[in-house]
Amino acid sequence: MQGTMCGIVKEARGEGLVYKTDLPIPQIGPDEILIKVKAAALCGTDLHICDWDTWSQNRVRPPMVIGHEIAGDVVEIGENVTDCKIGDRVSVESHIPCKECWFCQNDLAEICKNVELFGVTVPGGFAEYAKIRSDCAFHLDDNISYEHACMFEPMGAGVHGVEAAHVEGKTVLVSGCGPIGLTAITAAKVFGAKKVIACDLIDEKLEIAKEMGADIIINSGKCDLVAEIKAMTDGVGVDAAIDITGAGAAINNALKSVRAAGRMVCVGLPSKEVTMDLTEDLIYREVEMTGISGRRIWGTWESFAKVMQDPRYKIERIIGHEFKMADFQKAIDEVKSGVPGKMILKP
Ligand SMILES: [Zn+2]
Ligand SMILES: [Zn+2]
Repeated sequence: MQGTMCGIVKEARGEGLVYKTDLPIPQIGPDEILIKVKAAALCGTDLHICDWDTWSQNRVRPPMVIGHEIAGDVVEIGENVTDCKIGDRVSVESHIPCKECWFCQNDLAEICKNVELFGVTVPGGFAEYAKIRSDCAFHLDDNISYEHACMFEPMGAGVHGVEAAHVEGKTVLVSGCGPIGLTAITAAKVFGAKKVIACDLIDEKLEIAKEMGADIIINSGKCDLVAEIKAMTDGVGVDAAIDITGAGAAINNALKSVRAAGRMVCVGLPSKEVTMDLTEDLIYREVEMTGISGRRIWGTWESFAKVMQDPRYKIERIIGHEFKMADFQKAIDEVKSGVPGKMILKP
């Protein structure tokens, strides 16, 4: 497709983003599709790119359109594309695997060693149109709105964390009740957890956790979390714990709350090294500890589609306000001032 479009651009190495109205519409290759973007969501990563922190400096190659949590309609397909057709409603997997490395060959594409990141290392989707390799498009059921479809990518980390925790029939601790933690709580219930305990430092978030399926809520700032959990599990501990916070103290508390031979899953990213007592808390107790990266392609997406349909999943608690892409700065300002929820941007 020829012509120009609007979009949010990282124009040069340095701070800031600009909204432009004269960008060329991306030209697709033989394996790619062109998506008319209907909705997008603002991510913490986009704020890092705006602020131009070290993480961004090492990955982003300006000038380019940013944004990676998007949904829209397929309007053009490349000559080799057989898995998408014009008119399909899709969302996008932001991890573009190489399909050739050892990990891709062993069904671990989410940790591909040559991964490209949509909207980070290659141009993204905060624009009227975006292109992506066709096998990175997730096909949406008709009953999923574009706004809700933008939640697959970011909330998928929470769902993947629950998948990695093997929760069926188990007592599970979810530490951290922001949007990803709340998603993990409902996901744990949907995947058959017997009991979900949610902890956070903020009572308002814990109330929402309860609405979204938590059986027990604990304000870990007001009590000794480990003692509290031991008391409610006959001194044994939870079968599995999922840390969403990435905070060292919270990770340690979650690890100590897991029973011997239980499972600990780290989802939240610590900003610095975390110290742990591996001898006492992990080795002697045979705890299994793992991390997750991104989403299983497409297992996590299909799981989340189920979670989204569950009446316990209150997606309106996950999504914040809606803005035109031209007003993206207002969305960033709201996030920075602490307004909760994922902000939606529309072309
Ligand atoms: Zn994101
Ligand atoms: Zn690969």
